[in-house]
Amino acid sequence: MPVLTRLIPSPVAVDIRPGALDDLATILSDQRIAPSGRLAFAISGGSGRVLRERFAPSFPEADWFDDADGTIDGAVKLADSIKKAGRYDAVIGLGGGKIIDCAKYAAARVGLPLVAVATNLANDGLCSPVATLDNDAGRGSYGVPNPIGIIIDLDVIREAPVQFVRAGIGDVICKISAVADWELSHRETGEQIDGLAAAMARQAAEAVLRHPGGVDDDAFLTTLAESLVLCGISMSVAGDSRPASGACHEISHAFDLTFPKRSALHGEQCGLGGAFATFLRGDRETAGQMADVLRGHGLPVLPEEIGFTVDEFVEVVEFAPQTRPGRYTILEHLDLSTDEIRDAYADYAKAIGS
Ligand SMILES: [Zn+2]
Repeated sequence: MPVLTRLIPSPVAVDIRPGALDDLATILSDQRIAPSGRLAFAISGGSGRVLRERFAPSFPEADWFDDADGTIDGAVKLADSIKKAGRYDAVIGLGGGKIIDCAKYAAARVGLPLVAVATNLANDGLCSPVATLDNDAGRGSYGVPNPIGIIIDLDVIREAPVQFVRAGIGDVICKISAVADWELSHRETGEQIDGLAAAMARQAAEAVLRHPGGVDDDAFLTTLAESLVLCGISMSVAGDSRPASGACHEISHAFDLTFPKRSALHGEQCGLGGAFATFLRGDRETAGQMADVLRGHGLPVLPEEIGFTVDEFVEVVEFAPQTRPGRYTILEHLDLSTDEIRDAYADYAKAIGS
């Protein structure tokens, strides 16, 4: 009998619970992660200092680096600093998304595994094979290996500004739209779908969409954090960001590139973009459901709620397909004119109410 299987690049340690950071030393003493105990911690220059004061006594063999700043230059500098300082078993990215993305890129550059210790839940980047970094052209996505460990302490997450936790809800729920875009592309262009990657991303989104709780309770935070991790791994399964990124993300990238100084959080823009894209695909019921849930968590569903006029949003949607050439979503499928986008948006705004 033929036996066909595949190996999935995935973390060896995933620990999501209140108080997880109290056991950081035990988790990192795992022989698979740190056989010699030599670790390079990447932290931010600001809030990272508090974390360093807390953990430095538990890791006498570790070195601490605060070059990570969310830019490609910062990530290269971090890699150079780590390389110069000595030999390590692993890089530990301890902080928010910017720190983790810099640490992911730097770890890949020096050939070390990365453990992500996330202090907020703003997006699915904490466990994805992609580092999003600011560069001279705006913002770029760089392919990197998946982290080998993910640690999320819910007590620490509660200390993060609530906006940075809520944003993750938008980045997860929009996967319903991203996977639907993938299926649309399969029907229209014959693009192959990876069923496992699609299932992981969609079920993560469904779990958050249907969870009755909010960011104040651990059960909801656990579901949100686990969903973000699964979305990240779905990208490793697929080999690119396809299961996690469709028209929702094209719209978010277009906000970032068209209005770099005014853009909102990635997850906020993706949630809004996902609800609108779902509406464009003609699935009004799901679009309404997504909008209700986003609104219930205090997330934007209309551009004006993040400070953009209708005209600006139309400009963003028109530009969106150019942010991801080669990706086929409802935006490329409909190829709407400026006036058609304006009409579609008016229908959307009317349908989801306020
Ligand atoms: Zn995202």
